[in-house]
Amino acid sequence: MKRRPIIAGNWKMNTTLNSATTLVNELAQAINKKHVQAEIVICPPFPFLLPCQTASANSVIKLGAQDIHFEKNGAYTGDISAEMLASIPCQYVIIGHSERRKYHHETNAIINKKIKAALGSRIQIIFCIGESNTERETGETFNVLSTQLIEGLKGLESQVLPTTLSIAYEPIWAIGTGKVATPTQAQETHEFIRTTLSNITSTEVADKIRILYGGSVKPDNAKELLSQPDIDGALVGGASLSVAQLLPIIESI
Ligand code: PEP
Repeated sequence: MKRRPIIAGNWKMNTTLNSATTLVNELAQAINKKHVQAEIVICPPFPFLLPCQTASANSVIKLGAQDIHFEKNGAYTGDISAEMLASIPCQYVIIGHSERRKYHHETNAIINKKIKAALGSRIQIIFCIGESNTERETGETFNVLSTQLIEGLKGLESQVLPTTLSIAYEPIWAIGTGKVATPTQAQETHEFIRTTLSNITSTEVADKIRILYGGSVKPDNAKELLSQPDIDGALVGGASLSVAQLLPIIESI
């Protein structure tokens, strides 16, 4: 099954209006000169989504948000709904990032509601799952991942999943640490995720869902990771804040 790879950059709580628009514009210009095979998604902080869209107009770059609220609107001070994002329009949203799970106490049940809200607004989803260091060391990785998948995707119609859903496997111990899963470790885990997805949906659907790897992806480790059969792209944190680092990752596809 041929799946179009995605390289997504998660800027987290970084940049200012000026540095965000400069960065995305430089990336757009650099990409325009190349034959880029992957789908490119940049996820800036909320206030910079629209300015970044303008700054990258006439390029293949798509924009994504880093989170959503699961309700359409209402008394949720400080929150942003899928409907609001769709009206920009913003094409992607990251849901269930481990930093949201940790700092905002997001449970699998909350993440499930967010995924449903995004599906309802036709925004493409990058659904993050991943185990902690302790969970890997105690042999809990596959249990943790299958629970995150089963509870996160509970009640969803399998036929709408492939076009709008991607999974990002992000081992927590590899995020922002410089530690990276070996290509063999990552491939083995991605294969497990695809098998779990096929049990939840069907083999046909699972074959179409893109599974990205995230966790200290850099120019020097991207090629080997991205050449694994079940790794369909990368969710890149730190390295996505620099064109000099992100471009070679994009080109390694
Ligand atoms: C992330 O937070 O999604 C991530 C993968 O970060 P980093 O690439 O910096 O490890």
